[in-house]
Amino acid sequence: MGLDKIIEYQSIDIKLYALENEFQRSDELKNLKILQNNYKEKTEELSRMMKETQELFSSFEKSGLRISEVDGLEEDLSRDINSINDLDELDLYDKSLLKYDESISSIERELNRTAKRFTEIKIEVQKLIEQRLEINKLYVQHKKYHDDKINDVKMKAAPIMRELQVLRESVDPKLLSKYEELRAARKMPAYVEYNDGNCSGCGMHIFIEVNAKLNNKGDTAECPECRRIVYKL
Ligand SMILES: [Zn+2]
Repeated sequence: MGLDKIIEYQSIDIKLYALENEFQRSDELKNLKILQNNYKEKTEELSRMMKETQELFSSFEKSGLRISEVDGLEEDLSRDINSINDLDELDLYDKSLLKYDESISSIERELNRTAKRFTEIKIEVQKLIEQRLEINKLYVQHKKYHDDKINDVKMKAAPIMRELQVLRESVDPKLLSKYEELRAARKMPAYVEYNDGNCSGCGMHIFIEVNAKLNNKGDTAECPECRRIVYKL
């Protein structure tokens, strides 16, 4: 009978399914993903630093423009003091001198601030580059653990897959396709016993919805709750 074959197929495939889950949950896979994320974070951080460096360059350029303002003031100030005729003119001269002093101080502060940030960025970038190299080293090592794990899983899976391949020929294609649909949705096992009015997959009481369809041994119905196929023993 068709149902027997798919149940047999399922009982073997469950071992393959367990192997797949074991790999998905394995430290080998988790560690590799963590390292990939770390590497990505460091790379993003580096590109933020590069962007800030660009911004610092343009602030240097702005300081350069301000220096040319000071140049203008310098011209005023380089006049011969003896050519100043009255107090008003002297006052004006003093004001220019003060403005000159303020401008120089403010440009100095700006340049210091920018230079300080450059130094900080330089240190940060060096740190990030070292961290990335370290992650790379770890990645190579953990990629090997990961690949070993895959090979191990593949070796264990091979005989099971061969067995399933042979069995497939004798399974009703409709039942198989329903099975694969449920498996892909991670509803495993997909074919479950109808047990005392309950779906033994999800445990819900489904007597009212399905009992009328399950009169004889091997009758099947879809569980309205989890969509697994329940069968009567
Ligand atoms: Zn169910």
